[in-house]
Amino acid sequence: MSDAPDKQASLETVLCFACKYDVSGLPVGGRCPECGTRVIDAALVKRHHGMAKAALILGILSLLTWWIYFLLPALLGFTGLLLARRAKREIRGGKGAVASVGMATAAEACCWVALSFAVVFLGILVIAWLAYLF
Ligand SMILES: [Zn+2]
Repeated sequence: MSDAPDKQASLETVLCFACKYDVSGLPVGGRCPECGTRVIDAALVKRHHGMAKAALILGILSLLTWWIYFLLPALLGFTGLLLARRAKREIRGGKGAVASVGMATAAEACCWVALSFAVVFLGILVIAWLAYLF
């Protein structure tokens, strides 16, 4: 996907960020029929939200490092989750591209998977340690 504003944006599935009405196919100069938000705001700005991007990078890093040491993936995962949630809130508030909501959701998924792996891994370590002691 291009980072430049997309003149063909009205051909893609674009949801109004205010009310989630499908504004695809509507002229970018028009307004959302449901709530009156300008279609150009939802469709033309295709740049990804920087925070959503950072959250996704953190999520992938935490996925890659879950087995190394519990604290590192947990720290990356929690930071990624916080960034993803903040990015989603800002996107819903009208800042950044609506398409970045998907990126933020992917980041959240990566973070949750990495965090659960890290927790399971820590649990196995604790069980192995207890088995060794007793
Ligand atoms: Zn709307």
